[in-house]
Amino acid sequence: MLKSPCEEQHPREAEDSHRKHEQNNKLSEGIKKDIQKLYEAVPQLANVFKIKDKIGEGTFSSVYLATAQLQTGYEEKMALKHLIPTSHPLRIAAELQCLTVAGGQDNVMGVKYCFRKNDHVVIVMPYLEHESFLDILNSLSFEEVREYMFNLFKALRRIHHFGIVHRDVKPSNFLYNRRLKEYALVDFGLAQGTPDTKIELLKTAQSEGQKEESAHHSVQRSVFGERNFNVSTSTCQENSSTKLIKQSKIIDISSRKLLIKKKIISTKTVSNGAARKAASGCPSNLTCDCYATDRVCSVCLSRRQQVAPRAGTPGFRAPEVLTKCPTQTTAIDMWSAGIVFLSLLSGRYPFYKASDDLTALAQIMTVRGSRETIQAAKTFGKSILCTQEVPAQNLRTLCEKLRGTNSSSTRSKGATHSDSPHDPALPLDMDKHCATKSLGKEVQHLQSCQEALDGALENKAIDRKGWDHVPDDAYDLLDKLLDLNPATRITAKEALLHPFFKNMRL
Ligand code: ADP
Ligand code: MG
Ligand code: ZN
Repeated sequence: MLKSPCEEQHPREAEDSHRKHEQNNKLSEGIKKDIQKLYEAVPQLANVFKIKDKIGEGTFSSVYLATAQLQTGYEEKMALKHLIPTSHPLRIAAELQCLTVAGGQDNVMGVKYCFRKNDHVVIVMPYLEHESFLDILNSLSFEEVREYMFNLFKALRRIHHFGIVHRDVKPSNFLYNRRLKEYALVDFGLAQGTPDTKIELLKTAQSEGQKEESAHHSVQRSVFGERNFNVSTSTCQENSSTKLIKQSKIIDISSRKLLIKKKIISTKTVSNGAARKAASGCPSNLTCDCYATDRVCSVCLSRRQQVAPRAGTPGFRAPEVLTKCPTQTTAIDMWSAGIVFLSLLSGRYPFYKASDDLTALAQIMTVRGSRETIQAAKTFGKSILCTQEVPAQNLRTLCEKLRGTNSSSTRSKGATHSDSPHDPALPLDMDKHCATKSLGKEVQHLQSCQEALDGALENKAIDRKGWDHVPDDAYDLLDKLLDLNPATRITAKEALLHPFFKNMRL
């Protein structure tokens, strides 16, 4: 409760900037040990690579910088992603297939090699040196932001064309080299397939995922009431409290469907039961029969998943994801891209600092309006109860206020809400984080808010970098990305053709 979700959401970025300061010093003991352990776990790496540093550390993987000696004598930099050994083999194979099939062009990261020994899988990718989003956010020119978004949509158009829903679109998964103007969408660890996906393994991964999700659904539903209490008593007391309920009719139908589904699934599990038992009864160093092949054998498939199914970052989740709508499409990535765009236009990152889904939903309401959110949720069969009404905000007014700039260009369109006496222009959590909390991490955050503000003021004085002429097209695109209704939300293909990107080459 006292942890700042904001800190949690970008531990890597924090680590990255920390690393910069000790770049010239020797590696820390901890990193040295991790590198040593990786060499031991996957010895064949040592024949090819010199592992230089750890550049990313998440819950599900560690990423290292390594060099490979080429025959020409030239050293090539690579990124080695070591997946945690507890990941489900199908999940790993699906992540790899996304990279091999869709990767390597249009700003989607490709793959060079993959190494495996026992449970340890290492994906080798070309290394793209990249900025920390937080470090550069307030120094980007408007034109750089335009290019950034254009290139993000290029990547999304490509993966969506292959029927891949990324499900974790956020700055740390979209690498950006400012100097070279290079971009790469990474991390398919959460990806799922559309019904007509071209990624074979996402077809299985999808049904696996649904199995997981439906199993969780029935458990989660029973604690939903409790979570609502938490939301309305702690997080949202002075703002809107949200309550998410399923229309009773829908509950009946879907729980019956779930039951039927479960029966089918359980018969499947029973028929696999013998193999599963045999596998789990064997010593753990049992050699499987898919080693060094491109198949996943039954021994590996029957390994139990030891981690809770991965979830994206609440602050980037679309309303239909937050309300657990069962049919989720590529539109959820477009919402997340909209949140990234919102950060770029407002100079605030992360924009929404929610640690759970209902808080995230309440925060969305403070920007997009509670009535509008409820209305949209109805279209995908969800009913939201909200004790307080909050109006939708004008996106330009909100972003300019947060950035500390004031546009001289036309701002005629619907600036109605921003002039209200209570000044609701600050999103819910912004108030909370920047004004009322005074715990250690919160103070840090407060300082970074102040720095962002100072930075913005400095910008204003010295170089506005195009921020005083943000065209209406920018906010029109943002509005279409943050469309609460996934059915009408703009697609990546459409976004690239939006007037905001006129005279950019595809
Ligand atoms: P995770 O699933 O743990 O989030 P990612 O694939 O997102 O793993 O990688 C974590 C981090 O490692 C990224 O945010 C990025 O900083 C770094 N990284 C990943 N792939 C590369 C790459 N090909 N080149 C450079 N850095 C990379
Ligand atoms: Mg990641
Ligand atoms: Zn195997």
